[in-house]
Amino acid sequence: VNPAARAERVGLDVGGTAIKGGRIDADGRIAAEAGRALDRSLSPAAFLERALELARELGAREALGIGLPGLIDQELGGVSEAPNLPYLNRMRLRDELGRALGIEPARVFVENDAKAAALGELWLGAARGEQDALLLTLGTGIGGGLILGGQVFRGAGQAGELGHVTIDPAGPACSCGSRGCLERFASAKAAERRAREAGLPRNDPGNLELLCTLARAGGAEERALLRAIGLDLGRGIAVAVCLLDVRSYVFGGGFSAGLDQLEDGIRAGIAERAFGAERAATIQLRRAQLGPKAGWIGAARLAF
Ligand SMILES: [Zn+2]
Repeated sequence: VNPAARAERVGLDVGGTAIKGGRIDADGRIAAEAGRALDRSLSPAAFLERALELARELGAREALGIGLPGLIDQELGGVSEAPNLPYLNRMRLRDELGRALGIEPARVFVENDAKAAALGELWLGAARGEQDALLLTLGTGIGGGLILGGQVFRGAGQAGELGHVTIDPAGPACSCGSRGCLERFASAKAAERRAREAGLPRNDPGNLELLCTLARAGGAEERALLRAIGLDLGRGIAVAVCLLDVRSYVFGGGFSAGLDQLEDGIRAGIAERAFGAERAATIQLRRAQLGPKAGWIGAARLAF
């Protein structure tokens, strides 16, 4: 294996339960993939050891990209706030990885996981060929990865966090300190809560997969609920349409499997809040294509 000869790069993606990664060439051909289990209770040193082991197994040299959950501090070269993985907090990951792997720290690229995934989808997935796109991950919250002009747009660090635009000023409190945020209405977790409250589906309230299946089969109540959730998503997306006129939206996370049932509502929400139905009809709504690989593929892209 000589990654340098064919200009291959390694990308890593740190999640709650595993660190995954792969090696890929400049044309997007995957040469290797591997992973290691992680858990919340790891010490910083034990985490670093696993990350290094994986990077070495994948043949990282010259350059490396890594996607991380939480708020990235580019000056620190790591995560300044990782509520779900405390061992990552304040670790100078770029320097640590670079030093241990013999890679110049400036050639180690750290990025927020949602932003890395957006870059992966732009390169090889659902947003291929686009210049501007917003990836929305419908999970516990709503993660956002904004791409402008073919590049991750960070702003001062947190650009793309559409999950925290206000849908209802009097709505439920959000973990961010505000209330009525989009993710309190349309994340997978919020959708489960709404389904349970509505007693849907009847024989297993809160089961989103079944909810979507029943809606596809013509269930009127299931359809109405998914349309209402879609409408809220559309109202949130309208903010991005008004501000940036981004036309391409890619949906990741488990609940994105229901995009076919959310789409009518999303378009209605955009039409209602962002210049009408004509503009809304030009918006591309797509499911993410790379699944769990999106993060490490986008991280590797950063390293080219
Ligand atoms: Zn919020």
